Amino acid sequence: MRLLEEKISKDGRVLSENVLKVDSFLNHRIDPQLMLEIGKEFARIFAGEEITKIVTIESSGIAPAVMAGLQMNVPVIFARKRKSLTLVDDLLTATVYSFTKNETNEISISNKYVDKSDRVLIIDDFLANGEAALGLVKMVQQSGAKVAGIGIVIEKSFQQGAKKLHDLGIRVESLARIASLANGEVTYIKENVEELI
Ligand code: 5GP
Repeated sequence: MRLLEEKISKDGRVLSENVLKVDSFLNHRIDPQLMLEIGKEFARIFAGEEITKIVTIESSGIAPAVMAGLQMNVPVIFARKRKSLTLVDDLLTATVYSFTKNETNEISISNKYVDKSDRVLIIDDFLANGEAALGLVKMVQQSGAKVAGIGIVIEKSFQQGAKKLHDLGIRVESLARIASLANGEVTYIKENVEELI
């Protein structure tokens, strides 16, 4: 998605060979207009998948997921990273290690919001080693629902997540795919002739 790549190149900061900081439009301050375009793009890409629910993880997945939910007219459920006193229903859970925070969280969603009749689109801000996405896949599968696809805003293709998800036979669509963050520069994977022009 050209608009997103331009935004990353203009406002993103490469913190190391593995970490990109996008606090100014996605992870702290949020650019609503860009999120709306991201939502439209996910809706366009997954239009044929008969999605009934979107599942994401707090906090940075929520903005793109809500915009996609608005465009697709489906509810959005976000997994919590900490147990909430108000979350008293039976829970679907998974354990997720975050390499950016160096911490492990037991993530959960209430089992009353996803069931076996659902076709779920999982959305997240970043795909790195795939821990968060795999945790979300496990939780959705515990409910008996079908994972119809995974939509990622920024995929760091040089890490292992995309491969792990493809190996499970899951459709993964990423709006920006980063080949490398070496030398403080963002290099994208270009696969689409239109985008090369
Ligand atoms: P994974 O679980 O795929 O290893 O990492 C995905 C999660 O870690 C995302 O939900 C995101 O919050 C965080 N993350 C991974 N890589 C980056 C990065 O380069 N920059 C930022 N800001 N977050 C990242």
